Amino acid sequence: MLLHDRGHSGRVLHTPAGDAPADAVFAGLIDRLEKNGTLGREEFLYLLRNCRGANLRLLFDRAATVRRKVYGHTIFLRGLIEFTNHCRNNCLYCGIRAGNTRAERYRLSADEILACCRQGYELGFRTFVLQGGEDPGFADEALAAVVRAVKAAYPDTAVTLSVGERSREVYQFFRQAGADRYLLRHETATAAHYRQLHPAGMDWENRMRCLQDLRELGFQTGCGFMVGSPFQRDEELAEELLFLSRFRPEMAGIGPFIPHYQTPFGSYPAGSAEVTLALLAMIRIMLKTVLLPATTALGTLLPDGRERGILAGANVIMPNLSPESVREKYLLYNNKLHTGCEAAEAVEQLKQSLRQIGCEAVIDRGDCRKDFCDV
Ligand code: SF4
Repeated sequence: MLLHDRGHSGRVLHTPAGDAPADAVFAGLIDRLEKNGTLGREEFLYLLRNCRGANLRLLFDRAATVRRKVYGHTIFLRGLIEFTNHCRNNCLYCGIRAGNTRAERYRLSADEILACCRQGYELGFRTFVLQGGEDPGFADEALAAVVRAVKAAYPDTAVTLSVGERSREVYQFFRQAGADRYLLRHETATAAHYRQLHPAGMDWENRMRCLQDLRELGFQTGCGFMVGSPFQRDEELAEELLFLSRFRPEMAGIGPFIPHYQTPFGSYPAGSAEVTLALLAMIRIMLKTVLLPATTALGTLLPDGRERGILAGANVIMPNLSPESVREKYLLYNNKLHTGCEAAEAVEQLKQSLRQIGCEAVIDRGDCRKDFCDV
């Protein structure tokens, strides 16, 4: 549990300068991870337990090199529209769970969503991510109509949906409406751990079925997990890496767990930003073409978390295009970052901070580079 013992406390990750080489076992495993796109369980555990000093430096250097080889200096921006915070589920970690009667609920209309897209398009966004809880009050037909309207108005954009578990038929309906991508975090690759994070009635097998359906229906599919969620040990993190190496998603959303005070996990400690950065780097080396966001949660824990995420191999940032009036209501966790560069109006500032680390945000749909052989 070495990595977990470091805590997060908003510290900047230190990768001390120095000439000491990485340990030979660690370096050999990184070479094999890059070459073969996977490792064994014990080997992943070795990486997780030895991320320090020169090893960490090697890890970040290699991840940045792989990112540059596949995507150059390009970073993709996605316009995030959090269109409803109603949800029928009760995930134990989530601030907008149905059982949180103190959450202030909202649901955007189709016109409001389209207005966000119009503003985003003018700002240069060419992907819109429509994200919400599993909201029975926002009918599947209504969401499909929004997707059709966005694609008709802005044919050169991609639409990503992130609205949880649905039947295969509904996913197919969304696909036929024109949705290109779907994000569904699996949260944990271990069924027993899933049961610790979710109430009875939510089912890991169904989450996995959803991911499989999405892939088969031709979505660019994204999964993901929280780092440092309650009860997670290094063994569970090794399982995450094994799962990703098998599923090979086009997108992976990896962010630190941050507690929300109105949830059953409100008093649990946050996950580690440092461990999150190390995992981003391992995932970039393993899944070379993956679209990997430097998440808002990372930016919430570290003042320069998103830039650090990019330096650790991430290549996507998702500024918030939701109307200012609702941004504070989509609170999945405490103190969510929603000022400064999180406001789309400050996108220039974000671009500037990316330039300072040698990267360039581009006006592009930012599809996964399937033409690049990733193993
Ligand atoms: S994590 Fe998603 S599915 Fe679970 S309660 Fe929150 S919004 Fe609903």
